[in-house]
Amino acid sequence: MLPDAAIAENISRIEEEILSACLRSGRSRGEVQLMAVSKTHPAEAIAAGVAAGLRLFGENRVQEFQQKLPALNQLGIDVTAGDKMAVHFIGHLQSNKAARAVEIFSSIDTVDSLKLTQRLDETAKKLDRRLPILVEIKLSEEAAKTGLGPESHDLAELLECLPDLGHVEMRGLMTVAPFDDNPERARSCFRRLRLLREELATRHPRLEFGELSMGMSGDFEIAIEEGSTLVRIGTAIFGARPRPA
Ligand SMILES: *Cc1c(COP(=O)(O)O)cnc(C)c1O
Repeated sequence: MLPDAAIAENISRIEEEILSACLRSGRSRGEVQLMAVSKTHPAEAIAAGVAAGLRLFGENRVQEFQQKLPALNQLGIDVTAGDKMAVHFIGHLQSNKAARAVEIFSSIDTVDSLKLTQRLDETAKKLDRRLPILVEIKLSEEAAKTGLGPESHDLAELLECLPDLGHVEMRGLMTVAPFDDNPERARSCFRRLRLLREELATRHPRLEFGELSMGMSGDFEIAIEEGSTLVRIGTAIFGARPRPA
C-alpha cells in the first residue's frame, strides 16, 4: 500500500485535474463526483482516503468488501453513516450475492439484468430501504465487458419494468470504455453514453437519468469533458493494484 501522504498527494493532484477539466468544458466542479475505487486495497487505504477528504468509494467484490468491514470499523469508519460516507458496488453482481450486496453497499452501479434488479428490489423491500442503482451499458465489443447493449431488448425491458419496482431507485447510466493506450479513443464511447442518456430520458419520462458514471484513471478528464457526473478512479489514487481485479 502507498503511504498515506502519497495517497493524499494523488488525491489533491486529481482534484486539480478534475477542476481543470470542468473549467475547460464550462462545467462546475459540483457537477462531478470523485469515486475512489479501493478494490484490492486494504481498509487502511480507504482510511487514508477518508482522512484526505474522500467520501465516495467503489468496490467490485461483495465478499472482499465484507471482509474489510471489521477493519474499517476498527479504524473508526462507519460505512453506513449515510451522507458522510458511501460505498458503491461497481463489479459484476451475481444474483445469489444480491441480497448481501444490498446490505453492505449504498448503491449498485452495475445493474445489467431485470432478474438481478428484481432480486435487488425484493431485498431492499425486506430491509425497508430504497436502493439507488445505475444501469450498466456495454458500448464496446470487447468480450470482457459486461452490461446491456444500447439497442438490446433486455435494456428496453428493464427500463419498462423499473418504474414498478418500488424499492430500487434508478439514478442513471454507467459504462466502462474499452481499454486503449490512447484515451482519446474513449471519447466517442463517452459521447455515445451521453447521447443515449438523452434519448432514453425522453423515451422513459418516469425514470431518472441524471447520473453518468464514466471515466477511470486513464481517461477521466475526457469523460468529464463529455459529461461524466461520476468518475471512478483507482490506480491514480491508490497506486497499482497488488493483483488483477
Ligand atoms: C477497477 C475499476 C475502476 C478503476 O480503474 P483504474 O483504472 O484503476 O482507475 C473503475 N471502474 C470499474 C468498474 C472498475 O472495475
